[in-house]
Amino acid sequence: MQAYEKERSESSDNQSGTVPAGVLLDSYGHKSGESGKQADSGYLADHSQKVTARFTPMKRRARAMARFVADRVGTLPHGSIEREKLETVEKELRLCRNHLLFRNHFTEQRVTLSKMKSCKRTRLCPLCAVARANGHVVSYHKKTKQLVREASAQGIELRAYFVTLTKKHGVSLEETYTDFARSVTRLVNRRRDAMKAREGSVKHAYALQSVMASVSAGVFSFEVKRGSGSGLWNVHTHGLLLSTEAIDGARLSAEWHKLTGDSYIVDVQEIGTDNVKALCEVLKYSVKFSEMTLEDNFEAAMTLQNKRLIRSFGDYYGLKPDDSADIDDATVLDSPYIEQLYSYTRGSYVVVPGDGAVIVPMNTRGKAKPIVQKRQSKLK
Ligand SMILES: [Zn+2]
Repeated sequence: MQAYEKERSESSDNQSGTVPAGVLLDSYGHKSGESGKQADSGYLADHSQKVTARFTPMKRRARAMARFVADRVGTLPHGSIEREKLETVEKELRLCRNHLLFRNHFTEQRVTLSKMKSCKRTRLCPLCAVARANGHVVSYHKKTKQLVREASAQGIELRAYFVTLTKKHGVSLEETYTDFARSVTRLVNRRRDAMKAREGSVKHAYALQSVMASVSAGVFSFEVKRGSGSGLWNVHTHGLLLSTEAIDGARLSAEWHKLTGDSYIVDVQEIGTDNVKALCEVLKYSVKFSEMTLEDNFEAAMTLQNKRLIRSFGDYYGLKPDDSADIDDATVLDSPYIEQLYSYTRGSYVVVPGDGAVIVPMNTRGKAKPIVQKRQSKLK
């Protein structure tokens, strides 16, 4: 059995990070009042609302998918590899995030997720998909700020564009996806070819005409769904491009049509380089769970299980954002907190009454494992 994992150690899954959230519990009410530091419980109410109203439907969907997979398991021969594989999927989905241990950092009025066990099956489990997407948003937001700052120091102004590329729908998801991904790869490669052309390569001179010639960094997130009317598979991508020059939608459309042979629909919008909302749109999960039946969702996850649905290139690729912006987070982590456990019981997340002990982290900064000291009656 996999042990509880520390959420903060997962760079791509740090939804908890510092979720501005949560409740604490009626059971802690008397102590909250005594401390005098929890007078503003608005953030706790927000957190409770988030866990019960937002996470509960996602958990229900994960459970429904677990039951769907269990039915599939029942159709497979005992001892087959496929059956064993799906049994593992079913179990992990069923157990995913059954218990969520939060820390209420009451002096900072922040709630962080400290422990849980997750399935990390981001194409089948909405909870894990959202956590991963949130991690990507935080990471790419930092990377974007860093690249814009570094370019600015060299006198270069980077512009940010939200780009959507679409493809004619198809009967086979695998074929539609493969065709689409190949076209995106060819488009992205023109950025590198343009660099080679600027270095003198005649063979790559064609790429100087590409809209990608002025792009310094980009990330594309692929999405799949089945068209509600046609029943055909729809693959498209949203992307964020950083460019030294304006990106023209008509030019991109013409270029995309030449690459795909049958698709020209693209959308291009300039956004602020500090626009978190647009980043969320780019990096949201690749499966729209609410718009897909369990069967389509399962088919998409199985068909695309070895495909990368997020691709970064140029200056984003391999970039490790500096952590200078994490001072706030470190302050929160070093502050005293009260633990709060939520468990998924009878179709909902509910608060598990605790003892209300305040835990004071001792000098956690720079250490892999925080040393904690429990003080049972420190709130007075
Ligand atoms: Zn999960």
